[in-house]
Amino acid sequence: MSTWLRNVRLETGEATREDGSLQTKSELFHIQVAKEGVIQTIIPGSENVSDADAIDMEGKLALPAFKEMHNHLDKTYLSLGWRACRPVKNLSERLAIEAAELEELAETVEQRASAMIELHLNNGVNHIRTHVNIDPFIKLKNLEGVKNALKAYEQYLTYEIVAFPQHGLLAHEEMPNLLRQALESGATILGGLDPAGIDKDIEKSLQVTMDIAKEYGVDVDMHLHDRGQVGFYTMDKWLDMVKEQNYAGNTAFSHAFGLSKLSPHLQKQFAKKLSEHDVEIMSTIPISINHQLIPLNILKTEGVKVALGCDGFYDSWSPNFSGDILEKVHNFCDYTGKSDERSLRQSLSLITQGVTPLNIEGTQEWPKIGEEASFVFVDASCSAEAVARLPKKRLLMHKGKLYKSKH
Ligand SMILES: [Zn+2]
Repeated sequence: MSTWLRNVRLETGEATREDGSLQTKSELFHIQVAKEGVIQTIIPGSENVSDADAIDMEGKLALPAFKEMHNHLDKTYLSLGWRACRPVKNLSERLAIEAAELEELAETVEQRASAMIELHLNNGVNHIRTHVNIDPFIKLKNLEGVKNALKAYEQYLTYEIVAFPQHGLLAHEEMPNLLRQALESGATILGGLDPAGIDKDIEKSLQVTMDIAKEYGVDVDMHLHDRGQVGFYTMDKWLDMVKEQNYAGNTAFSHAFGLSKLSPHLQKQFAKKLSEHDVEIMSTIPISINHQLIPLNILKTEGVKVALGCDGFYDSWSPNFSGDILEKVHNFCDYTGKSDERSLRQSLSLITQGVTPLNIEGTQEWPKIGEEASFVFVDASCSAEAVARLPKKRLLMHKGKLYKSKH
Protein backbone atom coordinates (compact mmCIF):
# COMPACT_ATOMS: atom_id res chain seq x y z
CA MET A 1 0.00 0.00 0.00
CA SER A 2 1.21 3.50 -0.81
CA THR A 3 1.24 6.45 1.62
CA TRP A 4 0.19 10.02 0.80
CA LEU A 5 2.00 12.93 2.44
CA ARG A 6 -0.21 16.00 2.21
CA ASN A 7 0.91 19.65 2.27
CA VAL A 8 4.64 19.14 1.91
CA ARG A 9 6.58 22.32 1.17
CA LEU A 10 9.05 21.98 -1.71
CA GLU A 11 11.42 24.59 -3.06
CA THR A 12 10.49 25.37 -6.66
CA GLY A 13 12.81 28.17 -7.79
CA GLU A 14 14.07 31.60 -6.90
CA ALA A 15 12.90 35.16 -7.39
CA THR A 16 14.72 38.49 -7.23
CA ARG A 17 13.42 41.10 -4.82
CA GLU A 18 13.29 44.78 -5.78
CA ASP A 19 16.57 45.38 -3.95
CA GLY A 20 18.27 42.71 -6.08
CA SER A 21 18.52 40.06 -3.34
CA LEU A 22 17.40 36.50 -4.00
CA GLN A 23 14.48 34.75 -2.40
CA THR A 24 13.74 31.03 -2.62
CA LYS A 25 10.25 30.22 -3.86
CA SER A 26 8.32 27.29 -2.47
CA GLU A 27 4.89 25.74 -2.85
CA LEU A 28 2.82 23.02 -1.22
CA PHE A 29 2.54 19.59 -2.81
CA HIS A 30 1.11 16.18 -2.02
CA ILE A 31 3.58 13.33 -2.36
CA GLN A 32 2.63 9.69 -2.82
CA VAL A 33 5.18 7.19 -1.56
CA ALA A 34 5.02 3.67 -3.00
CA LYS A 35 5.28 0.76 -0.56
CA GLU A 36 8.77 0.03 -1.91
CA GLY A 37 9.85 3.35 -0.37
CA VAL A 38 10.19 5.40 -3.56
CA ILE A 39 8.39 8.56 -4.66
CA GLN A 40 5.46 7.54 -6.85
CA THR A 41 3.58 10.81 -7.51
CA ILE A 42 3.96 14.52 -6.77
CA ILE A 43 0.89 16.70 -7.32
CA PRO A 44 0.21 20.39 -6.52
CA GLY A 45 -1.25 21.12 -3.09
CA SER A 46 -4.30 22.69 -4.74
CA GLU A 47 -5.46 19.23 -5.89
CA ASN A 48 -7.39 16.84 -3.70
CA VAL A 49 -6.13 13.66 -2.11
CA SER A 50 -9.03 11.46 -1.08
CA ASP A 51 -6.93 8.93 0.89
CA ALA A 52 -8.26 8.96 4.48
CA ASP A 53 -4.91 7.66 5.76
CA ALA A 54 -2.92 10.50 4.21
CA ILE A 55 -0.46 12.11 6.63
CA ASP A 56 -0.78 15.90 6.88
CA MET A 57 2.72 17.45 6.93
CA GLU A 58 1.16 20.87 7.67
CA GLY A 59 3.39 22.86 5.35
CA LYS A 60 6.69 21.55 6.68
CA LEU A 61 9.63 21.89 4.30
CA ALA A 62 11.06 18.65 2.89
CA LEU A 63 14.86 18.39 2.64
CA PRO A 64 16.95 15.41 1.49
CA ALA A 65 17.76 13.19 4.50
CA PHE A 66 21.15 13.98 6.06
CA LYS A 67 24.30 11.84 5.99
CA GLU A 68 26.66 11.68 8.99
CA MET A 69 29.98 10.62 7.48
CA HIS A 70 32.38 10.60 10.43
CA ASN A 71 31.30 9.34 13.79
CA HIS A 72 32.40 7.10 16.68
CA LEU A 73 29.32 5.29 17.96
CA ASP A 74 31.39 3.10 20.30
CA LYS A 75 32.91 5.87 22.41
CA THR A 76 30.02 8.03 23.52
CA TYR A 77 29.03 8.54 27.16
CA LEU A 78 25.44 9.11 26.03
CA SER A 79 23.02 7.12 28.17
CA LEU A 80 25.51 7.20 31.08
CA GLY A 81 24.72 10.69 32.31
CA TRP A 82 27.08 13.67 32.35
CA ARG A 83 30.88 13.25 32.36
CA ALA A 84 33.45 15.86 31.38
CA CYS A 85 36.81 14.87 29.87
CA ARG A 86 39.72 14.07 32.15
CA PRO A 87 42.62 16.48 31.65
CA VAL A 88 45.77 14.96 30.08
CA LYS A 89 49.27 16.19 29.27
CA ASN A 90 49.60 14.56 25.86
CA LEU A 91 48.11 12.21 23.30
CA SER A 92 49.58 9.04 24.81
CA GLU A 93 47.91 9.81 28.14
CA ARG A 94 44.62 10.36 26.34
CA LEU A 95 45.00 7.03 24.54
CA ALA A 96 45.87 5.24 27.81
CA ILE A 97 42.75 6.64 29.50
CA GLU A 98 40.63 5.59 26.56
CA ALA A 99 42.07 2.06 26.47
CA ALA A 100 41.30 1.52 30.16
CA GLU A 101 37.92 3.16 29.96
CA LEU A 102 36.61 1.42 26.84
CA GLU A 103 37.21 -1.94 28.48
CA GLU A 104 35.18 -0.79 31.47
CA LEU A 105 32.47 0.55 29.19
CA ALA A 106 32.43 -2.43 26.80
CA GLU A 107 29.34 -3.93 28.44
CA THR A 108 27.30 -0.85 27.61
CA VAL A 109 28.49 -0.22 24.05
CA GLU A 110 25.25 -1.34 22.39
CA GLN A 111 23.14 0.80 24.70
CA ARG A 112 25.40 3.88 24.28
CA ALA A 113 25.60 3.48 20.49
CA SER A 114 21.79 3.19 20.35
CA ALA A 115 21.44 6.49 22.22
CA MET A 116 23.72 8.19 19.69
CA ILE A 117 21.90 6.61 16.74
CA GLU A 118 18.60 7.93 18.12
CA LEU A 119 20.08 11.40 18.48
CA HIS A 120 21.09 11.33 14.80
CA LEU A 121 17.70 9.97 13.67
CA ASN A 122 15.95 12.75 15.60
CA ASN A 123 18.18 15.27 13.84
CA GLY A 124 17.28 13.93 10.36
CA VAL A 125 20.20 11.58 9.62
CA ASN A 126 19.47 8.40 7.64
CA HIS A 127 23.04 7.29 6.95
CA ILE A 128 25.89 6.91 9.45
CA ARG A 129 29.52 6.10 8.73
CA THR A 130 30.93 5.10 12.08
CA HIS A 131 34.50 4.32 13.02
CA VAL A 132 34.82 1.56 15.61
CA ASN A 133 37.97 0.96 17.65
CA ILE A 134 39.81 -2.19 16.73
CA ASP A 135 42.77 -2.27 19.08
CA PRO A 136 44.77 -4.72 21.22
CA PHE A 137 42.72 -3.78 24.30
CA ILE A 138 39.13 -3.86 23.12
CA LYS A 139 39.74 -6.22 20.16
CA LEU A 140 36.36 -6.85 18.41
CA LYS A 141 34.11 -6.20 21.43
CA ASN A 142 33.01 -2.72 20.39
CA LEU A 143 32.39 -3.86 16.83
CA GLU A 144 29.90 -6.45 18.07
CA GLY A 145 28.01 -3.90 20.17
CA VAL A 146 27.88 -1.26 17.44
CA LYS A 147 26.75 -3.83 14.86
CA ASN A 148 23.89 -4.95 17.12
CA ALA A 149 22.84 -1.35 17.77
CA LEU A 150 22.81 -0.43 14.08
CA LYS A 151 20.96 -3.59 13.14
CA ALA A 152 18.10 -2.65 15.48
CA TYR A 153 17.55 0.61 13.53
CA GLU A 154 18.02 -0.82 10.03
CA GLN A 155 14.56 0.20 8.88
CA TYR A 156 15.44 3.87 9.45
CA LEU A 157 19.00 4.15 8.21
CA THR A 158 21.86 2.71 6.21
CA TYR A 159 25.38 2.50 7.60
CA GLU A 160 29.05 1.77 7.03
CA ILE A 161 31.45 0.55 9.72
CA VAL A 162 35.12 1.52 9.59
CA ALA A 163 37.64 -0.74 11.39
CA PHE A 164 39.64 1.95 13.16
CA PRO A 165 43.15 1.32 14.59
CA GLN A 166 42.94 4.03 17.27
CA HIS A 167 46.15 2.84 18.94
CA GLY A 168 48.08 2.56 15.70
CA LEU A 169 48.65 -0.10 13.10
CA LEU A 170 52.35 -0.82 13.57
CA ALA A 171 52.95 -0.49 17.32
CA HIS A 172 51.21 -3.75 18.20
CA GLU A 173 52.05 -6.73 16.05
CA GLU A 174 48.58 -8.30 16.30
CA MET A 175 46.93 -5.21 14.72
CA PRO A 176 46.97 -6.20 11.02
CA ASN A 177 45.27 -9.49 11.85
CA LEU A 178 42.77 -7.84 14.20
CA LEU A 179 41.79 -5.52 11.35
CA ARG A 180 41.44 -8.52 9.05
CA GLN A 181 39.17 -10.19 11.61
CA ALA A 182 37.09 -7.00 11.85
CA LEU A 183 36.67 -6.93 8.06
CA GLU A 184 35.50 -10.55 8.25
CA SER A 185 33.09 -9.72 11.08
CA GLY A 186 30.99 -6.84 9.78
CA ALA A 187 33.33 -3.86 9.30
CA THR A 188 32.98 -2.70 5.70
CA ILE A 189 35.80 -0.12 5.41
CA LEU A 190 39.44 -0.20 6.54
CA GLY A 191 40.48 2.70 8.77
CA GLY A 192 43.88 4.27 9.27
CA LEU A 193 45.43 6.77 11.67
CA ASP A 194 48.31 9.22 11.29
CA PRO A 195 51.02 7.08 9.66
CA ALA A 196 53.57 9.67 10.84
CA GLY A 197 52.27 10.91 14.20
CA ILE A 198 51.09 7.56 15.55
CA ASP A 199 52.86 4.85 13.51
CA LYS A 200 56.11 6.83 13.02
CA ASP A 201 56.71 5.13 9.67
CA ILE A 202 54.66 6.65 6.88
CA GLU A 203 55.68 4.31 4.05
CA LYS A 204 55.27 1.09 6.04
CA SER A 205 51.95 2.16 7.58
CA LEU A 206 50.52 3.08 4.17
CA GLN A 207 51.84 -0.13 2.61
CA VAL A 208 50.27 -2.39 5.26
CA THR A 209 47.00 -0.44 4.92
CA MET A 210 47.05 -0.85 1.14
CA ASP A 211 47.84 -4.58 1.40
CA ILE A 212 44.90 -5.26 3.74
CA ALA A 213 42.52 -3.04 1.73
CA LYS A 214 43.36 -4.86 -1.50
CA GLU A 215 43.16 -8.26 0.17
CA TYR A 216 39.54 -7.55 1.14
CA GLY A 217 38.64 -5.22 -1.74
CA VAL A 218 37.43 -2.53 0.68
CA ASP A 219 37.55 1.27 0.80
CA VAL A 220 39.99 3.05 3.10
CA ASP A 221 39.02 5.94 5.41
CA MET A 222 42.08 7.39 7.08
CA HIS A 223 42.11 9.73 10.12
CA LEU A 224 44.79 12.29 9.24
CA HIS A 225 45.40 14.74 12.06
CA ASP A 226 49.06 15.11 11.06
CA ARG A 227 49.47 18.72 10.09
CA GLY A 228 51.70 20.75 7.84
CA GLN A 229 54.16 19.17 5.46
CA VAL A 230 53.97 15.76 7.16
CA GLY A 231 50.21 15.48 6.72
CA PHE A 232 50.43 16.69 3.15
CA TYR A 233 53.27 14.26 2.33
CA THR A 234 51.21 11.36 3.74
CA MET A 235 48.27 12.13 1.47
CA ASP A 236 50.49 12.66 -1.54
CA LYS A 237 52.38 9.42 -0.91
CA TRP A 238 49.11 7.48 -0.51
CA LEU A 239 47.81 8.83 -3.82
CA ASP A 240 51.02 7.75 -5.57
CA MET A 241 50.47 4.31 -4.11
CA VAL A 242 46.81 4.35 -5.18
CA LYS A 243 47.95 5.10 -8.73
CA GLU A 244 50.58 2.37 -8.71
CA GLN A 245 48.12 -0.16 -7.35
CA ASN A 246 45.25 1.01 -9.55
CA TYR A 247 43.07 1.59 -6.48
CA ALA A 248 41.37 4.90 -7.31
CA GLY A 249 37.84 5.58 -6.07
CA ASN A 250 38.36 3.82 -2.74
CA THR A 251 39.82 6.50 -0.47
CA ALA A 252 38.50 8.96 2.07
CA PHE A 253 40.71 11.23 4.18
CA SER A 254 39.07 12.26 7.42
CA HIS A 255 40.15 15.63 8.88
CA ALA A 256 42.99 16.09 6.36
CA PHE A 257 44.57 18.85 8.48
CA GLY A 258 47.64 18.65 6.20
CA LEU A 259 45.65 20.66 3.64
CA SER A 260 45.13 23.69 5.86
CA LYS A 261 48.55 25.35 5.86
CA LEU A 262 49.36 24.99 2.15
CA SER A 263 49.32 28.08 -0.05
CA PRO A 264 46.05 28.53 -1.98
CA HIS A 265 47.96 27.68 -5.17
CA LEU A 266 49.18 24.36 -3.76
CA GLN A 267 45.76 23.66 -2.27
CA LYS A 268 44.24 24.04 -5.72
CA GLN A 269 46.90 21.91 -7.35
CA PHE A 270 46.52 19.15 -4.79
CA ALA A 271 42.72 19.35 -4.97
CA LYS A 272 43.02 18.41 -8.63
CA LYS A 273 45.06 15.33 -7.66
CA LEU A 274 42.49 14.38 -5.01
CA SER A 275 39.76 14.76 -7.61
CA GLU A 276 41.65 12.65 -10.19
CA HIS A 277 41.92 9.83 -7.65
CA ASP A 278 38.29 10.24 -6.66
CA VAL A 279 39.14 10.89 -2.99
CA GLU A 280 36.45 12.02 -0.57
CA ILE A 281 37.31 14.45 2.24
CA MET A 282 35.44 14.05 5.53
CA SER A 283 35.56 17.19 7.64
CA THR A 284 34.26 18.03 11.08
CA ILE A 285 34.67 21.80 10.55
CA PRO A 286 37.28 22.24 13.27
CA ILE A 287 37.43 25.60 15.02
CA SER A 288 40.13 25.06 17.61
CA ILE A 289 42.73 27.83 17.46
CA ASN A 290 45.35 25.24 16.56
CA HIS A 291 43.64 24.42 13.30
CA GLN A 292 43.11 26.40 10.22
CA LEU A 293 39.97 25.82 8.26
CA ILE A 294 40.26 23.06 5.67
CA PRO A 295 39.90 24.64 2.18
CA LEU A 296 36.52 23.08 1.46
CA ASN A 297 35.57 25.79 -1.04
CA ILE A 298 38.66 25.10 -3.16
CA LEU A 299 38.17 21.34 -2.87
CA LYS A 300 34.56 21.57 -4.02
CA THR A 301 35.40 23.92 -6.89
CA GLU A 302 37.96 21.39 -8.12
CA GLY A 303 35.37 18.61 -8.00
CA VAL A 304 36.52 16.85 -4.82
CA LYS A 305 33.71 15.14 -2.95
CA VAL A 306 33.35 16.64 0.53
CA ALA A 307 31.19 15.35 3.37
CA LEU A 308 30.82 16.27 7.03
CA GLY A 309 30.69 14.38 10.28
CA CYS A 310 30.14 15.16 13.94
CA ASP A 311 33.09 12.92 14.96
CA GLY A 312 33.07 11.67 18.53
CA PHE A 313 31.26 13.88 21.03
CA TYR A 314 30.17 13.39 24.63
CA ASP A 315 33.13 11.05 25.07
CA SER A 316 36.63 10.94 26.57
CA TRP A 317 37.87 13.22 23.78
CA SER A 318 35.20 15.91 23.67
CA PRO A 319 32.40 16.94 26.04
CA ASN A 320 30.99 19.58 23.69
CA PHE A 321 28.74 19.82 20.64
CA SER A 322 25.06 19.21 20.18
CA GLY A 323 25.45 16.22 17.87
CA ASP A 324 23.52 17.95 15.09
CA ILE A 325 25.08 17.45 11.63
CA LEU A 326 23.06 20.40 10.27
CA GLU A 327 24.88 22.58 12.81
CA LYS A 328 28.15 21.60 11.09
CA VAL A 329 26.84 23.14 7.85
CA HIS A 330 25.73 26.18 9.84
CA ASN A 331 29.23 26.49 11.35
CA PHE A 332 30.86 26.06 7.92
CA CYS A 333 28.75 28.95 6.57
CA ASP A 334 29.53 31.02 9.64
CA TYR A 335 33.32 30.55 9.45
CA THR A 336 33.50 31.03 5.69
CA GLY A 337 31.23 34.07 5.56
CA LYS A 338 28.42 32.47 3.60
CA SER A 339 25.37 34.55 4.39
CA ASP A 340 23.46 34.96 1.11
CA GLU A 341 20.53 32.82 0.02
CA ARG A 342 22.36 30.80 -2.63
CA SER A 343 25.50 29.92 -0.70
CA LEU A 344 23.56 28.99 2.44
CA ARG A 345 21.24 26.80 0.43
CA GLN A 346 23.95 25.09 -1.65
CA SER A 347 26.01 24.32 1.47
CA LEU A 348 23.38 21.78 2.44
CA SER A 349 25.02 19.53 -0.20
CA LEU A 350 27.80 18.86 2.35
CA ILE A 351 25.46 16.60 4.33
CA THR A 352 23.29 15.20 1.53
CA GLN A 353 25.92 13.59 -0.73
CA GLY A 354 25.60 16.53 -3.07
CA VAL A 355 21.80 16.60 -3.42
CA THR A 356 20.07 19.98 -3.04
CA PRO A 357 16.44 20.87 -3.83
CA LEU A 358 17.57 23.68 -6.18
CA ASN A 359 20.74 23.80 -8.24
CA ILE A 360 23.09 26.79 -8.16
CA GLU A 361 21.02 28.57 -10.85
CA GLY A 362 17.86 28.11 -8.82
CA THR A 363 16.25 25.36 -10.89
CA GLN A 364 14.43 22.62 -9.02
CA GLU A 365 16.33 19.32 -9.05
CA TRP A 366 14.87 17.39 -6.13
CA PRO A 367 12.72 15.48 -5.33
CA LYS A 368 11.93 13.44 -8.44
CA ILE A 369 9.52 10.62 -9.09
CA GLY A 370 11.21 7.22 -8.80
CA GLU A 371 13.77 8.45 -6.25
CA GLU A 372 14.09 7.09 -2.72
CA ALA A 373 11.49 8.65 -0.41
CA SER A 374 13.99 9.79 2.22
CA PHE A 375 13.26 13.21 3.68
CA VAL A 376 13.77 15.43 6.69
CA PHE A 377 10.70 17.56 7.40
CA VAL A 378 11.44 20.84 9.15
CA ASP A 379 9.73 24.07 10.17
CA ALA A 380 11.43 26.41 7.69
CA SER A 381 10.52 28.20 4.47
CA CYS A 382 13.60 27.07 2.52
CA SER A 383 17.00 25.29 2.77
CA ALA A 384 18.84 28.56 3.41
CA GLU A 385 16.65 29.30 6.44
CA ALA A 386 17.12 25.74 7.76
CA VAL A 387 20.92 26.08 7.54
CA ALA A 388 20.91 29.50 9.17
CA ARG A 389 18.34 28.94 11.89
CA LEU A 390 18.64 25.20 12.66
CA PRO A 391 14.97 24.32 13.20
CA LYS A 392 14.61 22.01 16.17
CA LYS A 393 11.67 19.67 15.71
CA ARG A 394 12.54 17.45 12.74
CA LEU A 395 10.87 14.40 11.32
CA LEU A 396 12.84 11.79 9.37
CA MET A 397 11.43 9.55 6.66
CA HIS A 398 13.76 6.82 5.42
CA LYS A 399 12.69 4.94 2.28
CA GLY A 400 9.04 5.68 3.05
CA LYS A 401 9.22 4.87 6.80
CA LEU A 402 8.66 7.68 9.29
CA TYR A 403 10.93 7.53 12.33
CA LYS A 404 9.04 7.98 15.55
CA SER A 405 11.29 8.95 18.41
CA LYS A 406 11.03 6.76 21.49
CA HIS A 407 11.62 9.81 23.68
ZN1 LIG B 1 37.27 10.46 14.30
